[in-house]
Amino acid sequence: MTGFVFPRLIFWALALAVLISCASPRYAPPASDGAALAGEERAALQGAMDTALARRARVYDLAWPVLAANTALCPNVSPSIGLVLADRGLLATMAGGLRERDLEALGIEEGLHIVHAMAGAPAGQAGLAAGMTLMAVEGEAVAKPGAAGKAIRQTLEEKDTVTLTVGGGSESRTLTITGTRACAMPVKISQSQAINAHAASGDIVIYTGLIRALTDDALQFVIAHEAAHLAERHPRKYWRNLAVSGGVVTGPLLYAGATLADMGAKAIGQRPDISVTARSLRLIAPWSTHFEAEADYLGLYMVARAGGDLTGAREAFDVFSREAPRSIYTKSTHPVTPERLVALQAAVEEIEAKREAGMPLLPNEVSHGQ
Ligand SMILES: [Zn+2]
Repeated sequence: MTGFVFPRLIFWALALAVLISCASPRYAPPASDGAALAGEERAALQGAMDTALARRARVYDLAWPVLAANTALCPNVSPSIGLVLADRGLLATMAGGLRERDLEALGIEEGLHIVHAMAGAPAGQAGLAAGMTLMAVEGEAVAKPGAAGKAIRQTLEEKDTVTLTVGGGSESRTLTITGTRACAMPVKISQSQAINAHAASGDIVIYTGLIRALTDDALQFVIAHEAAHLAERHPRKYWRNLAVSGGVVTGPLLYAGATLADMGAKAIGQRPDISVTARSLRLIAPWSTHFEAEADYLGLYMVARAGGDLTGAREAFDVFSREAPRSIYTKSTHPVTPERLVALQAAVEEIEAKREAGMPLLPNEVSHGQ
C-alpha cells in the first residue's frame, strides 16, 4: 500500500510545481549585446583605476611636504625628485588590485609609467605628470621601476641633477631636473578597508579605509605620525624590546614563516601592500604605548614644520573613536585614550607658543639622566 502512495505523492507534487510555474508571470529583461557589455566592463575598470590612482595621488601629495620639511629629524635622508614609477604589472596592483590584462584592455601599453609627480616636488615642477612614460635616465634605457628609481637617486647623489627622457603621446623629450633632499621613507597604500596605518615594516603604509575616512589635514597627521615612528626607529626598538620580553623565543619562528610566505607571494607575482611579516609582528607582541605617545608628539612637529594644519591630529582621533571603537587592531595599535588626547592638545599648544615666539620648531628632547 505505502509503496503505491509515495509515487503518487511525487506525481501530485510535480504537477503542482508545473501549475505554479505556469501561473506565475515570466519577465523578459532586454537582451544585452556584446559591444554594450564590453563597453560597461571597460568603463568599470577605468573607474576603478581612476579612483585608486586619485587616492594614491592624494596621499603622495600630503606626504611630500612632511618628508621634504623634516630631513633634520629623519635618520635616513636621500635626494629625490618626488616621482612615483611603475611598470604595467605594478601599475595594475596600484590601480586597486586590477590584473595586468585589465590594463591591457584599457589600452595601457607596457613600459615604465609615471604614476604620479608629487605636488611641490621637483619632478612635477619640471612638468612631469601621470600618464607619461619614463624612457631613459642619463641616456640609459630603463624598464623596471626599482632600477630606474635607483639610477635617479645615484645620479642625484653624484651631481645634484638628473637628466630624464620622457614620452607622452608620440613625442619624447629630455629634461634635466635638480633634486632635493627628503626623508627616505617609502609611502605605500594598502587596499584594506580598515581605518588604520602602520610603519612596522619600515615603510609608511596607509590603508584605503583610512584615506576614505579622513580629511586632508587628518590624513597628513597620520602620515606624519607613521613617519615619526620610522624617524624614532620604533620598529627596530620594538625588536630589541621583544628580545628582552621573551617574545624572541616564539617571534623568530613566526617571523621566518611570515617572511617565507611573503617570498612565496612575490614569486607568484602577488604583491601584497601589507606583508605577512608586518601582520605577524602584531601577533608576537603588542606595540608600545610609549611609541605611540612619541610618534604623536614628533608627528605634530613634522606637520607644523611642513606648514600643515595642527587641528588634523584631533580630527583623526575623533574619526578613530567614532568609526572603529571596537576594532581590535585600533585598540592594540592606536588606542584613543583620554591621556593621548590631552597630551596631543598640550603638544599643539607647545608648538603654537614656539611659533609665536619665533623659536625653531624642534621637539623637546629628553635630557640625559632622566
Ligand atoms: Zn602609531
